[in-house]
Amino acid sequence: MKVLVLNSGSSSLKYQLFNMDDESVLAKGLVEKIGLDGSLLTHQPAGMDKVKIEAAIPNHNVAIELVIAALLDEKHGVIKDMKEIDAVGHRTVHGGTTFSESCLINDDVIAEMERLVTLAPLHNPPCILGIKACQEKIPGVPMVGVFDTAFHQTMPPASYLYGLPYEYYEKYQLRRYGFHGTSHRFVSIRCREILGNPEHSKIITCHLGNGSSLAAIKDGKVQDTSMGLTPLEGLLMGTRCGDLDPAILPFLMEKEGLDIAGMNTVMNKKSGLLGISGVSSDMRDVEEAAAAGNERAAIALEVFKKTVLRYIGAYAAEMDGVDAIVFTAGIGENGKAVRKAICENLTYLGIEFDEEANDCRGKEIEISKPGSKVRVFIIPTNEELMIARDTKEIISK
Ligand code: ADP
Repeated sequence: MKVLVLNSGSSSLKYQLFNMDDESVLAKGLVEKIGLDGSLLTHQPAGMDKVKIEAAIPNHNVAIELVIAALLDEKHGVIKDMKEIDAVGHRTVHGGTTFSESCLINDDVIAEMERLVTLAPLHNPPCILGIKACQEKIPGVPMVGVFDTAFHQTMPPASYLYGLPYEYYEKYQLRRYGFHGTSHRFVSIRCREILGNPEHSKIITCHLGNGSSLAAIKDGKVQDTSMGLTPLEGLLMGTRCGDLDPAILPFLMEKEGLDIAGMNTVMNKKSGLLGISGVSSDMRDVEEAAAAGNERAAIALEVFKKTVLRYIGAYAAEMDGVDAIVFTAGIGENGKAVRKAICENLTYLGIEFDEEANDCRGKEIEISKPGSKVRVFIIPTNEELMIARDTKEIISK
């Protein structure tokens, strides 16, 4: 079975075609600058060089058309006929409380996703565009939606309710939803496998990338997570501020004369590692600047570490213990210094950190010593594969 996985952004479209018989990737690629000047498709068939295709790509329909053409191409294609694509799995972002698991996409699902646009005005519209483009360009192929919020739907009310008047929860579904669910699910399933699939387990998964979030997962079910109604809450991120005293909003809006959009831009695009360091939103740049003596960059690293530690401590307390901690995503998989700085502060949990094992990048490995009370792992995430697996399972039913 061949499954095409799509991740549609407002001006980009990432894709991977999987052969689900052995879960291998046949080809992957990225369409950039949809609707903008300089739009471009980069296509990479497995084991071959990347091909760059420049073309006018005014919308998602044309983007899908180009992706299909690249997959079918005589030279760099990997399939002979469009009919070889058995299903399409879409990364769909916000599923509200409606979608607690992945589902087959039909008109009702699309209508519900459209209703949920109020909760995810930036993320859901491009997903819907990607779905509609597939309906038009690859008609009749079953499609599955895999929501970023779904895995977190097991949270109890005490984790998802904010301390605001209850009527706002009732009126606007204002609550914590959490994001990166597909990644937290992928790495926590793998972690439980490594632990021998015990009946009971307490795992803290740390997805640390440009966007970062932690999840507390007890017996395979999310108990709490650091992102909230939107992906702005929680840890300090590349350009996002994470947790704030909410009173800062009216204060800054008044002092700086910011309107709602201006305030949103400050919190989402100008804060985080970038905002504190003034150097970059990219962890590698900030580490480099700190090593060269930039004090603000050094403080930004400290703040990042501290917010992760704060949540690990909170989640260990909430679950009354923790069996394993998992690091994943760009920083979690590659950032040796970040992992070291965090783990060295967790001796109180009984973690014996293995510095030698930690001296690696992007591979699955245990970075705690044998006998460590809490085990620590690096587990590379693979959201696309998780989407492909869900898609295969759902359409096989
Ligand atoms: P996204 O959330 O966009 O998917 P990623 O998961 O790819 O992001 O993570 C990007 C982050 O990973 C960047 O801050 C980058 O600096 C960081 N990163 C990548 N490689 C390293 C490394 N070797 N050391 C530290 N950080 C790294």
